[in-house]
Amino acid sequence: MIKDFVRKRSINVCLVNTGGCNGCDIEIVSCLAPRYDIEQYGIYVHNNPREADVLVVTGPVTGAWEKRLLEIYEKTPEPKIVIAVGACALSGGIFKEGHIHGPVDKVIPVDAKLPGCPPRPSEIISAVVSIAPDALAAKEKLLNQKLKEEKNKAKA
Ligand code: SF4
Repeated sequence: MIKDFVRKRSINVCLVNTGGCNGCDIEIVSCLAPRYDIEQYGIYVHNNPREADVLVVTGPVTGAWEKRLLEIYEKTPEPKIVIAVGACALSGGIFKEGHIHGPVDKVIPVDAKLPGCPPRPSEIISAVVSIAPDALAAKEKLLNQKLKEEKNKAKA
């Protein structure tokens, strides 16, 4: 409960590469560098789906990644917003003619799509920041619901 309260005003992003060339991931990692400093907006990037509000998914979803991506999606707590980043995640990109199980929206629900090969860090930050108010509102609603349930439990 305390952890939920502390995390209420921040957005935790889990980065998932489903078999791309890493170009998109390098741009996402650049968002953490001092030049862009995504943490100044209260956005934290890691690779733990259980702590994530937002999944940022890159790559075309290879055969080996289909089941793992679904598992990661299931492990992510609500509001679990998904942003597909890069041409590969959106349509298969350069892997389109290969043996892929994607794109991403074929495997899990996608809330926002960011094209580019790769998109620029500023575009990635804009995409994440644009969904932040909705994600925070959904988190607050869930937290209030949890608090209410715990109060009712304590009364009973
Ligand atoms: S969209 Fe381009 S940069 Fe991103 S993973 Fe695909 S090929 Fe690489």
